[in-house]
Amino acid sequence: RPPGPAHRAAPARLTVLAGPTAVGKGSVTAWVREHHPEVWISVSATTRRRRPGEQDGVHYHFVDDAEFDRLVAEDELLEWAVVHRGARYGTPRGPVEEALAAGRQALLEIDLQGARQVRRRMPQAQFVFLAPPSWDELVRRLVGRGTEDAAERERRLGTAREELAAEPEFDVTVVNRRIPDAGARLVELIGLGSR
Ligand code: 5GP
Repeated sequence: RPPGPAHRAAPARLTVLAGPTAVGKGSVTAWVREHHPEVWISVSATTRRRRPGEQDGVHYHFVDDAEFDRLVAEDELLEWAVVHRGARYGTPRGPVEEALAAGRQALLEIDLQGARQVRRRMPQAQFVFLAPPSWDELVRRLVGRGTEDAAERERRLGTAREELAAEPEFDVTVVNRRIPDAGARLVELIGLGSR
């Protein structure tokens, strides 16, 4: 187990939010960012292209492949994964450790593969699964985005089905019916800290 303040901090105040693709993790996290600035939210590094409206250093650290390789090689990421379309995403470790050492309540919004890696490294963290109200609703949200072509959508539906099956691995489930309700429930859980 690597040394570092995050592993000594007691109680750890790290909450990991994961859940299937299109369930609304990003929207719920954005709600927390807007309404609860006391919660520290990790900014991931990613190799994907910046979308309009996204700011470097705010929504993501947009890096090229060489820089991502360096982050991995120097063990600067708490976890990382290829999420979709071959883009890599990862959580910079240093800022998380600093936030926890400073006693902040910290939130990571990452995919399932990443959540499993964090669980291995920081089992004391709180793992929250964001679930859709139903499978049909998840399909509606996935299709409703309209940003994916048919083949990509099929692939992501398959992924979503597998991801839904991971719910029992988590400490607690929050159902995302309405973003403000799910956000408020998440903040409540974050405030409860670790188990
Ligand atoms: P998007 O490209 O739409 O912003 O995000 C796509 C997916 O990447 C989401 O499921 C999100 O949870 C995941 N993601 C964002 N940051 C990270 C990260 O640092 N690590 C991992 N493993 N997944 C991430």
